Amino acid sequence: MQHLIGVDLGGTNLKVALLDKKGEIRKKTSVLTARGKQAVLQQIIESIEKVLEKTGVKKSAVLGIGIGTPGLVDNIHGIVRGFTNIKGWRNVPLKEYVEREIKLPVYVDNDVNLMTLGELMCGAGRGAKNIVCLTLGTGVGGGIVIEGNLYRGSTLSAGEIGHVSVNADGPRCICGSYGCLERYVGNAYIVKKAVEAIEGGRRSIIKKLVEGDLKAVTPRVISRAARQGDRLAGEIWEETGRYIGIVLSGVVNLLDPEIIVIGGGVAQAGRLLFEPIRKTVKERAMSIPARKVKIVPAKLGKDAGLIGAGMLVKVEANKISSLHPA
Ligand SMILES: [Zn+2]
Repeated sequence: MQHLIGVDLGGTNLKVALLDKKGEIRKKTSVLTARGKQAVLQQIIESIEKVLEKTGVKKSAVLGIGIGTPGLVDNIHGIVRGFTNIKGWRNVPLKEYVEREIKLPVYVDNDVNLMTLGELMCGAGRGAKNIVCLTLGTGVGGGIVIEGNLYRGSTLSAGEIGHVSVNADGPRCICGSYGCLERYVGNAYIVKKAVEAIEGGRRSIIKKLVEGDLKAVTPRVISRAARQGDRLAGEIWEETGRYIGIVLSGVVNLLDPEIIVIGGGVAQAGRLLFEPIRKTVKERAMSIPARKVKIVPAKLGKDAGLIGAGMLVKVEANKISSLHPA
């Protein structure tokens, strides 16, 4: 039986998994990401070797290695253009390096693209051909699948849903634009909104939930408060959902997807968030695609990137074997 290796290189953790061809994780390791380029490269190799050693799977039984990482990735050449969390990590020929060290085929892509691929092949998007994935967290990312294939765009920059403007006169964004979605629904903004309202005198059980320490407010705490009927928390999710819904209405009009999958920490607010999103899309998007599109939470959770990395191997290896039939 063939196996796949998935690598999820994040700013905080480096995760490596051995998966079967269905995307089931057989063994997983996670370490804190090292500091500095050389140390990280070495850590990737060691983690892959460790997973192989622990499972006793031979390299000859592994189809290849998929690696997902944030930032701009040249998936064709397997080069990571930039990743600010790791010092010196610019134009790193990750594919070439890992192939030379491990001697297995290596494929590299952006982490949100791989999460999208994971959800498409093994998660909430199974069976669909046109899906859009949204990840909510510190940043807001997006992945697009058209007719079963990841859509990367002409400069590999497609999917930046977080930088679609929802307010022409909004605050300046790091990307240079104004009023981007990320400035309204990113973790930091959601927390700031709650804290400012409470400091301004709004009554809310959020304050009690963090025992008065407003620095401890997180989106999770705001979800808990909303579930207990807290007015302020409910309003925050309502507004967050409305902004996401406004952007997704544009996505529905532009791409007419079957499914929109929403993942990331904030998506755990569940119904509180999904109801205003669905309502806004129904109100604003063209009626035929708006009626058809399903807006659902991601299924694979924190492993989506790892599973997607494994699935990338399967997709790319299939392309190669169809080019060179036996
Ligand atoms: Zn922006």
